[in-house]
Order: sequence, then structure tokens, then C-alpha cells
Amino acid sequence: MFNIFIWIVYMSKDFKEGFKEGFTLGTKLGYKLSKKGCGSTDIEDLFQTGGVLMVVETDPQAAGLGYKADANKVDKTKFPKYADGQNCGICSLYQGKLGSASGGCSLTHFSGKLIAATGWCKFYAKKV
Ligand code: SF4
Repeated sequence: MFNIFIWIVYMSKDFKEGFKEGFTLGTKLGYKLSKKGCGSTDIEDLFQTGGVLMVVETDPQAAGLGYKADANKVDKTKFPKYADGQNCGICSLYQGKLGSASGGCSLTHFSGKLIAATGWCKFYAKKV
């Protein structure tokens, strides 16, 4: 009987926490989406990053730096500095944890947003 009581208390705590987290995330997303007016890809990104926007390749600043979320798609004729194997995840300016899917970048161009670890831009500098 006591075990059931503990289980009920535990489950109700989990439910409350889950509800609170969901409500907070939903509020953040709703606010950002209402300001930005974005498509379904952006919504998916926001859910995956806990409400932080991903840098998009079409952003004028990102495009100017040759940023691609998938380094394999870098235009090698436009950016001859690019070499196979280079990506944000191993760049010295990458602020995400090793092995993370996305993280911040020290470049002010991308402040407040996340870049893909698989990405690349012309300021790539190998982490030493
Ligand atoms: S500076 Fe480095 S981490 Fe930042 S976008 Fe360019 S390649 Fe990626």
C-alpha cells in the first residue's frame, strides 16, 4: 500500500514537471514563432534545440560566410579553403560540447543562434 502511495506521489511529481517544462517550452516557441513567422522546418529546429533558433543558410550573414549546415555541400569553387572532413564540430570557434549536434559559434554573426556541428563557414579554424 505504501509503495502505491509513493508511486502516485512520484508520478504526480513527474507529471507536474513535464507539464511545467512543456508549458514553458510552448510559451517560448509561441513567442518566437509569432515574432518570426516561420515554416515547419523552423518549428522542428526549435523543438530540437529547446527554443533556440538555428542559423539558416539563407540568412544574408550566413550566406556571406558561405555557411552550410552540411559541410559536404560547401561550394568548393567559391570556397577553395574548404577541405573534406572540416566541420563546425571540430572548429575552434564552436561552443557546443564535443559530439553535440548543434551549438553556439564565437562569431558575432551567429550570436544568439545555434549552428549545426556538421556545418562549415569560411572562418573555419581547426581546433588544436
Ligand atoms: S567559425 Fe567555425 S564553428 Fe563557426 S560557423 Fe564557421 S566553421 Fe562553424
